[in-house]
Amino acid sequence: MDQNRLRIAIQKSGRLSSDCQLMLKGCGVKLNLREQRLIAHAENMPIDLLRVRDDDIPGLVMDGVVDLGIVGENVLEEAVMERQATGEAAEYSVLKRLDFGGCRLSLAVSEEFDYQGPKSLEGKRIATSYPWLLKRYMDGQGVKFKSVMLNGSVEVAPRASLADAICDLVSTGATLEANGLEETDVIFRSKAVLIQSASTLATTKQKIIDKLLPRIQGLQQARESKYIMLHAPKARLEEVIDLLPGAERPTIMSLAGESNQVAIHMVSSEDMFWETMEGLKALGASSILVLPIEKMME
Ligand code: ATP
Ligand code: MG
Repeated sequence: MDQNRLRIAIQKSGRLSSDCQLMLKGCGVKLNLREQRLIAHAENMPIDLLRVRDDDIPGLVMDGVVDLGIVGENVLEEAVMERQATGEAAEYSVLKRLDFGGCRLSLAVSEEFDYQGPKSLEGKRIATSYPWLLKRYMDGQGVKFKSVMLNGSVEVAPRASLADAICDLVSTGATLEANGLEETDVIFRSKAVLIQSASTLATTKQKIIDKLLPRIQGLQQARESKYIMLHAPKARLEEVIDLLPGAERPTIMSLAGESNQVAIHMVSSEDMFWETMEGLKALGASSILVLPIEKMME
């Protein structure tokens, strides 16, 4: 194993894998992931990707087998609590909270269940893949319950009479609805995070991380920003500027052969709503364009 290559663990296939790959690609890391191999070498940077099941990522980082990992906070927090319970070391640092993989861990009961708050679950069986996160929440509520550990198909447990309630990940709620379940309590909100092992890194590896982090920041910032262009009548310039989203001051340019109108360009950290565009048009603005930004560096 080459000690100078940065090792990053990512989910091999699942909900986080394509966003992880897109993020690395956006950072300029050239990957060849066509093969089904566990380790993929970047072609243009000293980076190796370890493609594993997401459940294995916290352990690989905390044991220092890899330098970085990208994993959901739900899986990370569960692994930390499990390790702490067994007295194992659970050290790592969060380098960055990412803008994908958003979901929530929620309690849900069948639509027929007369739910009056967590106390209704006293002594009941709750199916989950996250027994530690669930226990922490229920302890906080002072409710005793029986945990039914399931690694998949948690949502069918009540119908199959395996449990009275479930505690599972939700994003839109469509899966719950399709199974006749109702979300009652959100117990944990999660996003994907980039984490680093607690072991000291070789300078060469640290240098790669120092390159990657601002690039990730630049990608996230670009995703949240828009490039806005429009033409506006000079006479109503201040009113037009007041309507533009965000606090940034725009650039004003003159238009060739047109003395009553100017062009306005700006980068906004917010999107522009249709209502705002309609308002601008009502002030006499025209050719209003809202463009996505791919990368940015300040
Ligand atoms: P693996 O085979 O790697 O163990 P998995 O089946 O455990 O995969 P996925 O369903 O791919 O995991 O989800 C990976 C992560 O994606 C979750 O742990 C969570 O952080 C995030 N996620 C985002 N939205 C959802 C959702 N609606 N349901 C489940 N997970 C979600
Ligand atoms: Mg998993």
